[in-house]
Amino acid sequence: MEVNINEVAKRLSKLIQVKSLSNEKFENIDFQPFFQIKSYLREFYPIIHDKSKIEIIHEGAFVYKIEGNTSNKLPLLFMGHMDVVAAGEDTLNQWKVDPFSGVIEDEIVWGRGAKDMKSQIISFFEATEYALKYEIERDYDLYFSLGYDEEVGGRNGAKYIADYFKKQNIKFGMIIDEGGMITDGILGLLEEIALVGTCEKGYVDLKITYAADGGHSSMPPTSTALGKICEAACKLENNQMPVRITEPLSEMLVKLSKYLKGSARIALEKNKIFSPIVKSSLSKSPASNALARTTTALTMAKGSDASNVLPNLAYIVVNFRLLPGDTLEELLTHVKSVIGEEYNIEVLISKTPSKFSKVDEYFDIVSESIKKAYPHVAEVVPFIMVGGTDSIYMDDLSDHIYKFGPFRCSEDERKVVHGVNEFMRFKDLKIGIDFFYNVINKY
Ligand SMILES: [Zn+2]
Repeated sequence: MEVNINEVAKRLSKLIQVKSLSNEKFENIDFQPFFQIKSYLREFYPIIHDKSKIEIIHEGAFVYKIEGNTSNKLPLLFMGHMDVVAAGEDTLNQWKVDPFSGVIEDEIVWGRGAKDMKSQIISFFEATEYALKYEIERDYDLYFSLGYDEEVGGRNGAKYIADYFKKQNIKFGMIIDEGGMITDGILGLLEEIALVGTCEKGYVDLKITYAADGGHSSMPPTSTALGKICEAACKLENNQMPVRITEPLSEMLVKLSKYLKGSARIALEKNKIFSPIVKSSLSKSPASNALARTTTALTMAKGSDASNVLPNLAYIVVNFRLLPGDTLEELLTHVKSVIGEEYNIEVLISKTPSKFSKVDEYFDIVSESIKKAYPHVAEVVPFIMVGGTDSIYMDDLSDHIYKFGPFRCSEDERKVVHGVNEFMRFKDLKIGIDFFYNVINKY
């Protein structure tokens, strides 16, 4: 397909200039920027607006429905979130440009949201506008959803969008949301690999408290509440949930094995037979460890308020990322068996992991669409998302939820997401548009 990428970049720049910030508190969300994005999209993509039915969901999330020539197949959904994280005051001096200026220079668009994820929104709008312009036949309805609070958990945007679809009894043949990207450095490989998220880890915060007699620290008992809490903390770090090679991980290892040599190659290729060796090597680096187990991260702690006062209460907060297949109940049983029964355990937050999306002919549509848009990609592999996305709320709505941003993002460049100097290259934007156009055609 032919696009004028200079014009596309200008449209992306316009969206970046809209300061569409997330907000933890629903009542503090300023919806004006989200409606500004909606009106820009109307201006940029007149055919889509002419042909779609747009619903406003829960104040400022949007659902677009673009009917097909027929509706023989289950509909297809492209998801996006319009919100971005702030550019921290303390980091502003490290930015080469004002993060909300959308400066275009040397075929690069700079600014907050350039990768996460205004480029993706622009890409699927661009591809769809083109498909409509040239009257590409579709035997399915195409939907877009645009949320406004993904960066703070999606409890008001995506959650309500999912409820809207459920109420309408709409199920999707396939859903594409942000997620993995085309990247290098996976298992130390130089090859460019497309990581397509087929599941997403859950999220649990536990507050573990120990109560004891307080008093003056001049006559302490052998162990204080804080000592007991430290004991529990060490035990949790030393006895983590087991490593498991789930189906998507196994498939990823098999596909990547051919780029390795010698015994590593054989071990990954036959990862079920060599599972003890593979498990032990996966657990060595934080990145691969996160793909293979429910992780344990001690993040907060508190004792007494003064150095000479014994705490009558001490606590830690532990953040766990649940591997799909593990449950909150199993985690609580594990924690109790490790630290014993004398602690009080409170669940602060619990988000269930997603199910596994099927890796079948729908995955092939995504895979072929990537390879056609970017032939340099060596492999397209299923991937376990360790972070959260809006599509977690869509878990019941499709058997094929793929979490993927069709852009190149090297190991080094990954830090610009939520970091400083976020950018998008023109040529990557072009890959994104081609990808969505291919999906529309192949679906
Ligand atoms: Zn995002």
